[in-house]
Amino acid sequence: MRTKIVAGNWKMNKNLEETETLLTELSAKLPDTDAEVIVAPTFVNLAAAKESLDSSIIQVAAQNMHYAENGAYTGEISADMLLNIEVDIVILGHSERRSLFGESDGLLNKKVKAALGKGMKVIFCFGEELEDRKSDNHFSVVEHQLKNGLFDLDAKAWGSIILAYEPVWAIGTGETASPEQAQEMHAFIRKTISEAYNNSIADAVSILYGGSVKPSNAEEIFSKPDVDGGLIGGASLKGDDFVSIIKAI
Ligand code: 13P
Repeated sequence: MRTKIVAGNWKMNKNLEETETLLTELSAKLPDTDAEVIVAPTFVNLAAAKESLDSSIIQVAAQNMHYAENGAYTGEISADMLLNIEVDIVILGHSERRSLFGESDGLLNKKVKAALGKGMKVIFCFGEELEDRKSDNHFSVVEHQLKNGLFDLDAKAWGSIILAYEPVWAIGTGETASPEQAQEMHAFIRKTISEAYNNSIADAVSILYGGSVKPSNAEEIFSKPDVDGGLIGGASLKGDDFVSIIKAI
């Protein structure tokens, strides 16, 4: 049985007070679930989030980190800084990092290795753009992102990897991949990992879908056999919506 996961990527939203209010609401309304629940507030509110979730099963992730140990990297955050406030999960490779901040597969590969080297878990995001899908290149784009970002990792590193397939055309657009499109891609991802490594690694890795998941579509998407949960943007900012999505898994 693969781990089911619902993760909320808050992006650049919620100040300190709003962070605490939403986490208090989520803790109070959290349904009984076997799924792992993760929230990723902004860097400046991670420590407060950890504190307010002290006795909760909700886990806290960072949205990014730098690969270096420390040093002259103005504006950056290291793995040790995250671990120092007990944040041991990091989202890497989000399409906004790739497209708005120029993060390449090569850079992401360094970040992934740095995080894993420190014992962190990585939620690795990838996904094709609309043009890639229109030109029927979506499978090869995803294959390249996986290969260049992850496929030089040791087999045992895969125990600390969570994948998040997020087709760029579905992020924040209200347009969701159909459950069939998500399943088709997730099955392809698993096959690609199985060919690069083996069946047991491919079978064990949790693959989340992200892109306009909301209470009205979560259950159908999550019902697909290779979809192990979701990485939720907009709908994770509203307590009731996020709780409904957790209930859907
Ligand atoms: P939306 O759910 O707002 O489409 O965002 C998805 C996402 O980017 C999660 O990382």
